[in-house]
Amino acid sequence: MSTESHSHGGVQHTHAHGHTAHAHDYKMPELPESVDIFDTILRDGSQQEGLSLTVDDKLRVAEQLDHLGVSYIEGSWPGANPKDVEFFERAKKELSLGTATLVAFGSTRRAGVKPETDAVLTNLVEAGAPVACIVAKSWDRHVAEALRTSLDEAVAMVADSVRYLCEHDLRVFLDAEHFFDGFRRNPEFALSVLSAAEASGAEALVLCDTNGGSLPDDVGEAVAAVRARTSAQLGIHCHNDAGCAVANSLIAVQAGATQVQGCINGYGERAGNTDLSAAIPNLSLKLNIRTIPAERLERLTPVAHHIAELVNIAPNPQQPYVGNSVFAHKGGLHASAVARSADLYEHVVPDTVGNGTRVVVSEMAGRSTLAMKSAELGLDLDGEVIGRVLDELKQLEHEGYHFEVADGSLELLLRRATGWTADFFTVESFRVITDHDAREANDEATSTPEPFAGMTTEATVKVHVGGERIVATAEGNGPVNALDGALRGAIGSKFPALDHIHLIDYRVRVLDTGRGTGAVTRVLVDSTDGERTWTTIGVSENIIEASWQALYDSIVFGLLHAA
Ligand SMILES: [Zn+2]
Repeated sequence: MSTESHSHGGVQHTHAHGHTAHAHDYKMPELPESVDIFDTILRDGSQQEGLSLTVDDKLRVAEQLDHLGVSYIEGSWPGANPKDVEFFERAKKELSLGTATLVAFGSTRRAGVKPETDAVLTNLVEAGAPVACIVAKSWDRHVAEALRTSLDEAVAMVADSVRYLCEHDLRVFLDAEHFFDGFRRNPEFALSVLSAAEASGAEALVLCDTNGGSLPDDVGEAVAAVRARTSAQLGIHCHNDAGCAVANSLIAVQAGATQVQGCINGYGERAGNTDLSAAIPNLSLKLNIRTIPAERLERLTPVAHHIAELVNIAPNPQQPYVGNSVFAHKGGLHASAVARSADLYEHVVPDTVGNGTRVVVSEMAGRSTLAMKSAELGLDLDGEVIGRVLDELKQLEHEGYHFEVADGSLELLLRRATGWTADFFTVESFRVITDHDAREANDEATSTPEPFAGMTTEATVKVHVGGERIVATAEGNGPVNALDGALRGAIGSKFPALDHIHLIDYRVRVLDTGRGTGAVTRVLVDSTDGERTWTTIGVSENIIEASWQALYDSIVFGLLHAA
């Protein structure tokens, strides 16, 4: 096996690309210069449980994908439902795509029907997208058991449909569904589907691992076998059921595929589609193959997070390349080594994908970690102060605080150590009352009695702000909500920036301190001002007190950074 070492773009890597390898019994072609990235969030990705996009959301996702610089964006089935009809209509008017081409998705004609009378095909023509991607069965068992037609008719369906779409001036990609399973069991039929599509004018033949169970060597071998038989562009479309979607996509490219389908953030049903957030930098940075424009690679993390927000699914902090934690370093020795030579612990330079090195501070932190964290925040803490903060941090972590997940509170702790105090407002007192009105509950109870229907929570906050004493009361669906409402009522008019600051999550955990008496409650509050998000923490034997600490820090942090 020949092993080459490269260094480019600040990335150190070695990859084996063997021509006489024992690992593969097929020949690998030269790596392509570039591949087309095809994102399918709007169609395949939207099959994910809990993921539902409005037409507006879909347009916003498409804009983000274009901003990132993918080659193709797949819309859903035109004509399938009113939402998708509206999407293609509005896309024509409202989307001005710079790098990406919009693709309409559909299937071949049904068995025994002429293409011109098949609704799916006529809808594809009417959608107005320049490219149609149609799915066809390439596993004989699916033809027999799902389509219930003959293999000859299945091949004719492909040929007729591709020809019809080409005659209507569409570029056509063929998604060969279950290709790898089909190729294993009946290669002759699977290949005949591809050759029918190519002979009828299909531009790209996309090999799909629809069940997601294939392993890299099988995929590489099958792609290489197809590569040897066709001159059409080959695409790869993988699902991640065996955890190999990205690896399978890479080996497919190494074996001759030049179109990679998947989704930013790997959305999709079951285990998801190929995560393009990992496939793109692997191809660009490690295999030196052009994907999105090189200068846009640094948009990868911001776009991945923006899309996560649009689809309303919290980003996975451990997601390769773009996760919040994937360049985070914890522990004194490790973190101080990162400070000296980042590549000792980082496989790529985080900036290249728009992510960043983060120092995580916990009780395991040493002085150098804390010094680095202070420097990151632009604070100048001398050795004596660092020592004091470290002692305080260790004491607080012992009591149940957990600063590595509460960046907002940690920053405030470090700032206070420099002598800073939050002087936005001072709190005289607060009070929370929760009561249950059984009458109200019974009045409202209809067919299904709700035991807490009559529960109301009211909070009163007394604060001093700008020389004024203000008392405000608010109701809420729980203590944090009521306290937040009361505090905002009291100080909102003095701090208009509060309008943009919202709580987005509230988590409570009861900690077993082993003391036998009352358990300690840890509350984490996530907040955002629309651009930045931060987490604050409170710990107390009293859940209201813990909630108040986290809430107070959240508001102070927000005001500090709004200034
Ligand atoms: Zn799929």
